[in-house]
Amino acid sequence: MVTEYEAKSILTPTGGFLTGFSHTLNPYVGCSLGRSLCGMACYASEMRFASCEMPHWGQSLKVKLNAGSLYRRDQARARQKGEPLSIFMSSVTDPYVPQERRYRITRGVLSEMLESPPDILVIQTHTPNVLWDVETLYRLHKQCYLTVQISIETDQETLAGFPRHAYSVSARLAALRELTKAGLKTVGVVSPLLPLAEPELFAACLGEAASAVILDHYLIGDGSPNGMRTRRKKPFHYLPVPELIAEADCDAWNTLGKFYQVVETFQRILGSDRVGVSAEGFQAMAGN
Ligand code: SF4
Repeated sequence: MVTEYEAKSILTPTGGFLTGFSHTLNPYVGCSLGRSLCGMACYASEMRFASCEMPHWGQSLKVKLNAGSLYRRDQARARQKGEPLSIFMSSVTDPYVPQERRYRITRGVLSEMLESPPDILVIQTHTPNVLWDVETLYRLHKQCYLTVQISIETDQETLAGFPRHAYSVSARLAALRELTKAGLKTVGVVSPLLPLAEPELFAACLGEAASAVILDHYLIGDGSPNGMRTRRKKPFHYLPVPELIAEADCDAWNTLGKFYQVVETFQRILGSDRVGVSAEGFQAMAGN
């Protein structure tokens, strides 16, 4: 179900959450991709407001119709106070859900940013739909430190026991390639790492498509000790992700030993400076 509303603000101070960013910006509430594979380990569904307003994660979306004008107002207030503007878009939704094609909320925000750019902007999406705005993004990248991150958790188009990807691996790789070719700084985000069929080939493909890669594992990257959050999370009708990985005879991928082996492979193929690891990697690639 899609509903429209007028939000009260659009720039949310991070307050320590998401180190290195001053604000998050979410053009929507909820995420219409939440029932696909990426929704399985998506922590956005657990955020306080998201779980209150969206009890059925992935089945509803709220559209912030006034996001563009709110950005104009909120950034002016922040600038008046002398605050830096390093923005993560988005932390609890995807700025390029399919409904963006109709509503163009993210595009409206980007247009306002062309008039009043932030210092740093990271666009984090799970979709190739970010290509809809490639020209605007190119103009914006001339005015601020802009990075486009596309998450691709595995090189496999289907994973036994998991729901389908919302967008194919090949479409997301192609989008990274196109954005990089257009002159943008791009990052392929392999997070949380799921079983890979061919790690070396995947590293080479990502290295050819994106400026850099970030690798993360739920055991160190889900914000809880020893991946407890992911172990406990029961996404819609499925078992927790670590159990599904084990059931697919891939239990080694539930270990940090395997993760660091993959990190080494990526660093060998791409060079250490193009491979970020977990939180530190996210910060470094964003220009913080
Ligand atoms: S696209 Fe992002 S916000 Fe939406 S369900 Fe997937 S991981 Fe969560």
